[in-house]
Amino acid sequence: MDKEDGLNRAIKKYVEKTPGSKEFLSQTNEVMPGGVTANIKSFDPHPVIMKKGMGAYLYDVDGNEYIDYLLSYGALMHGHGHPEINKAIHTQIEEDGTSLFGTPHALEVKMGKKIQALYPSLELLRYTNSGTEATLLATRMAYAYTGKNKIAKFEGHYHGGFDQVLLSVNPPIDEVGLQHEPNAVIESRGVDSYHEEHTVILPFNDLEAAANILSKRRDEIAAVVLEPVQGGFIPAEQSFMDGLRKVTEELDILLIFDEVKTGFRLGLGGAQAFYKINPDITALGKVVGGGFPVGMVGGKKEIMMVSSPKASSDVFDSSQSLKSSAKDVLFHSGTYNGHPTILAAGLATINLLEKELHNVFAVTNQLKEGINKLFAKRGVAMQTIGLGSIFNVVITEQDKILNYRQLQQSNFKIRKEIDFRLLCEGIYTKPLNRYSLSTVHGEKEINRTLDAYDRVLMQLF
Ligand code: PMP
Repeated sequence: MDKEDGLNRAIKKYVEKTPGSKEFLSQTNEVMPGGVTANIKSFDPHPVIMKKGMGAYLYDVDGNEYIDYLLSYGALMHGHGHPEINKAIHTQIEEDGTSLFGTPHALEVKMGKKIQALYPSLELLRYTNSGTEATLLATRMAYAYTGKNKIAKFEGHYHGGFDQVLLSVNPPIDEVGLQHEPNAVIESRGVDSYHEEHTVILPFNDLEAAANILSKRRDEIAAVVLEPVQGGFIPAEQSFMDGLRKVTEELDILLIFDEVKTGFRLGLGGAQAFYKINPDITALGKVVGGGFPVGMVGGKKEIMMVSSPKASSDVFDSSQSLKSSAKDVLFHSGTYNGHPTILAAGLATINLLEKELHNVFAVTNQLKEGINKLFAKRGVAMQTIGLGSIFNVVITEQDKILNYRQLQQSNFKIRKEIDFRLLCEGIYTKPLNRYSLSTVHGEKEINRTLDAYDRVLMQLF
């Protein structure tokens, strides 16, 4: 029997195990297009609909229990409902008497100082409400500071849901063009072809080719933005990082680290501490919100100061005649920016991590090694790829996966079958997604996961 049949059988079993999720989707379809409010939450034949979370576990509407390795795409570093985070939220609201001041406040400074200590390249920072807003602001900062109007990003890298970066994230392989000079492939309806010209696509982990493109277009490109670890699991090589920093400096192009996934997951100081690189601008999100919507953008003082309202007026200033024009200052605003309750949750998250992050790394390595051994036992070529507290299981005979095109050559079909079978065994990640761990994943969860893997691989190989 071929593997397609195997996948169909695995999906059938999953459908049998999750009738309540299927039924519930008909209700979500009545209120949201495609039944979801974020496209990533959708998968065929239907996503699992969760009803309760506790520690490392999620429970679906059918009462099935899952060990959660998706952790809301990596955001939950302490699992679900951590008491210290819950306490911090309640304390903030009770002591401050409100969830929102609408003015600068103490927690903005407290969090800012904490971030500056752990990420010294963030000399000044601004708060946003999501990773998308953070990378969007970082891009505008780069345009404003350099006076140039193009951005370079790497093929296979995701930076959120706005027009300039919704290109070549997961492009069809027959549209990607040359390896050393990738095409810019638009990946959302509604994004104008203008962006094919204004977003330059670079090949990841290929310094020579990337440097070549950058030097040819140095007068147009304001910044290079990258996920230091592509998709959270394909690491940049150290020599590539060192070279990219050097080349961008030489060409007067800013370097933006999108650390929305890697921040606090690769180490307390993120990828920049790991690689010992000082980016010009950094975007943070996910973990640092403690399970609530947050983003941060920070960087060199002289760059960040382009948003300082003291320098000029802004669109809300009615006394415009007294100052210079709004367009002299980078506009950045937001009703909820620096939300006190979220910053309290974020600070509690960091405080806990300062004590416990090394344990998460140890547990992650234990799981990776266990999975590697189980595949090896069955003679299946694969790799667990990743750093810190995130990794992915890639079924491949290739030596090393360094970029999007190599990843596309791996066996997604078998991986998907494994994932659906694991879902039936109570191991949760969205099919084909990476694994993230938390401080509440321990020996018990790892053993249960490896037992489930063993049973699934036995059925398959
Ligand atoms: N950048 C990266 C690297 C991300 O992983 C994500 C989210 N997956 C974003 C930006 C966007 O963040 P958000 O979903 O909070 O808008």
